[in-house]
Amino acid sequence: MECPVCGSDCVRTAPEIMSDLPTRFLPCAECSMRVLDKRAPLSALEYAEPCSCGKRFIDEVFAHMYVIMREEGDLSPRDPLIAVGSPLIHPGFAMDLPPFLPAKSLLLLSGKVQEKAARRIVAEVPEVRGVVKTAAFVPGLISHDLNAVPRVYTLLAGCDVRADIYPLATGPLVVYKQQSLIHIEFPRAGYPKLRSVVAHVGKPPVPFFVDAFSGPGTLGLAAACLGVPHVVMNDAWYASAFWSAFNLEVNRVYFDVDKVQIYGQVRDMARHPVAREPVKIAETTGRQVIEVYQGDFLNLDRVIPKDAHPVAALDIFDKNDRNGVSAMLRDWQGRMGGDVFVP
Ligand SMILES: [Zn+2]
Ligand SMILES: [Zn+2]
Repeated sequence: MECPVCGSDCVRTAPEIMSDLPTRFLPCAECSMRVLDKRAPLSALEYAEPCSCGKRFIDEVFAHMYVIMREEGDLSPRDPLIAVGSPLIHPGFAMDLPPFLPAKSLLLLSGKVQEKAARRIVAEVPEVRGVVKTAAFVPGLISHDLNAVPRVYTLLAGCDVRADIYPLATGPLVVYKQQSLIHIEFPRAGYPKLRSVVAHVGKPPVPFFVDAFSGPGTLGLAAACLGVPHVVMNDAWYASAFWSAFNLEVNRVYFDVDKVQIYGQVRDMARHPVAREPVKIAETTGRQVIEVYQGDFLNLDRVIPKDAHPVAALDIFDKNDRNGVSAMLRDWQGRMGGDVFVP
């Protein structure tokens, strides 16, 4: 598959990504492992090269990036190793041990890195796929006030597309995202949101499921994997709607569909970052109908049939705003009927 951001082959389908996953982050017999103190500066500006198998322990990769950022003046001699930034592993899943990284398996998020060092890191550190400059805000659409202008991080070098893997009884779900445009959600232990979807879908599956704030599509795609005949995913933010559609294609092996059609291109969609009227971004034909829309969730009554009685997940960003949440649930129930829950 061609990556919609960098145009290279940095994205793969779910079966391809799963094929080498069991050993992807494990060392070979020759791999060496130097555990470094993340809270201290690197004692000497040195690092080991990758092993002949192509992998290198994550701390050593951090040492390499630290040296580059020191040479370019992004870090001072007193900065600890951790000041390099936060690693996001590709593909991400629950790991028991720190990883030995193969080529193009790490995305660096950093508040300190500048463009010159970022370009050098991508060119000189083989494990790195991209470098994103972060700041003290959450990227993407983070409230249900569609008038708020979303802010995003900056991709300085390489590509910031990566995937997380979610375990499901039907097979692992692969969810790609463009990391600079979307809030970073670390899967919680035991995957409580997925468990909540499994419980609400039931067996046999409910006939109609809505993922009203889909993000990159995790919950709606999970419902489709569980066999729900009609699934609607929706998000007002273009990056979320686009990646929901893209992930439909990535995971299509799990669905009983003949065809996946994607109508939205990410570059065109960026010109209308927040949509109110639902615009269809993707759909399937076949025994399962899975649709993706970009729009305000309160306008979904225009695309959901009156007699659908959907089971709807509202994955609300600010769950602590109790009054806001109950008003939203009441509003949804009044318009769409069916069953609604906050995963
Ligand atoms: Zn890419
Ligand atoms: Zn090795």
